[in-house]
Amino acid sequence: MDTYDVVVVGARAAGAATAMLLARQGQRALLLDRGRYGTDTLSTHALMRGGVFLLSRWGLLDRVVNAGTPPVRHTRFDYGTDSVAVAIKPTLGVQALYAPRRTVLDPVLVDAAAAAGAEVRFGVAVTGLVRDDADRVVGVRVRERTGKTVAVRARLTVGADGIRSTVARAAGAATLRAGAGAGAVIYGYWSELPVNGYEWFYRPGYSAGMIPTNGGEVCVFAGVPAATLAAGARGDLGETYHRLLAAATGGADGRLAAARPPDRLRTWVGRPGFVRQARGAGWVLVGDAGSFLDPLSTHGITDALRDAEVLARGAANNLELYATERDRVTGPLFDAVERIARYGWDSDQIKRYLLDLSAAMSAELEVIANGYPTASADSARAASRLAPNLVYE
Ligand SMILES: Cc1cc2nc3c(=O)[nH]c(=O)nc-3n(C[C@H](O)[C@H](O)[C@H](O)COP(=O)(O)OP(=O)(O)OC[C@H]3O[C@@H](n4cnc5c(N)ncnc54)[C@H](O)[C@@H]3O)c2cc1C
Repeated sequence: MDTYDVVVVGARAAGAATAMLLARQGQRALLLDRGRYGTDTLSTHALMRGGVFLLSRWGLLDRVVNAGTPPVRHTRFDYGTDSVAVAIKPTLGVQALYAPRRTVLDPVLVDAAAAAGAEVRFGVAVTGLVRDDADRVVGVRVRERTGKTVAVRARLTVGADGIRSTVARAAGAATLRAGAGAGAVIYGYWSELPVNGYEWFYRPGYSAGMIPTNGGEVCVFAGVPAATLAAGARGDLGETYHRLLAAATGGADGRLAAARPPDRLRTWVGRPGFVRQARGAGWVLVGDAGSFLDPLSTHGITDALRDAEVLARGAANNLELYATERDRVTGPLFDAVERIARYGWDSDQIKRYLLDLSAAMSAELEVIANGYPTASADSARAASRLAPNLVYE
């Protein structure tokens, strides 16, 4: 049995960032993923300010920019009857937002984890947890490529293994919040489509987004309630996509008709959001494994990076503090996104809901950038005093 300070299950946004930060602190970290290095995943990958800020703080933003990820300096909200354009204000050193393809972002994080000293292994699936006599989690069971199963011991097991998290299931993580709204999304990559930064479209029952990304392409998604897509699922996907886009954007002033549409489309059929219990004895959840917001929030990657930062900060040694902070920040985000993902809004309501989301994002940014505000400052200080002992409880 190999023994580590920490084993991290899942090597994308949440897991690679967590392994990188803990390895940078000198912890012996093992980062595992059952998939392959550098592959794509279902995501429209728009980063919000907190995510860009963290990449910058970690010294990784240059790599994303150097990969040809275009800066996003404006956001436009289009409600059909009116539209609002917002310039991205340079705040906290963030001059622009970015939406790197996951084939760009995830390898940047994995490479940084390896450079920090984490051992990285792809093609190995975690099948369960190892527990000691006191029922504390002390590692994971891993199925190697050869089919052989081995145990890996670690003082902390981090579940960064996405919405269907094996770690969460095996740990028995309780569901703290369960959403009812679920949006479905169809998206693809367009060429020769002029956009002015992120453009979001809202019409009753429909949504869409245009997200400039690598290779001069624009990721364009069309969203509807999951039940609506399910009801029309038998139709031709391309026809459905273009019909939904037309309904959500009105053709975006003729820009869609003049641009080159995608060869390939990807579909997310939708599932309600959730917040799971963040930690237990010897285990903790980060990213989608711990909390999942409807993709209409375009927020999951930023949240995943936030979890890594909050866990790795003094709180890595005080899992209760991590759980408290995560729940405090996630609650308002969850509520705001839930109202948006339920659709059923009119154009006045969606404007209010987006303002609520914006306020929740500002509060999150405050925690990301400045640490724990007042209420938990004392416990943060107490946690940092625990740091040398590496007490995972
Ligand atoms: C359609 C869609 C659009 C989205 N758009 C955006 C957006 O615009 N902006 C944004 O910020 N977020 C967006 N998101 C959300 C975002 O993609 C996720 O929040 C983010 O990927 C979560 O990262 P993660 O590291 O927690 O999990 P994941 O990206 O799900 O990674 C989990 C990893 O764990 C591995 N794994 C799973 N089980 C095991 C196991 N048993 N053993 C070993 N490895 C395992 C998987 O192979 C995977 O690599 C979108 C999501 C969807 C579905």
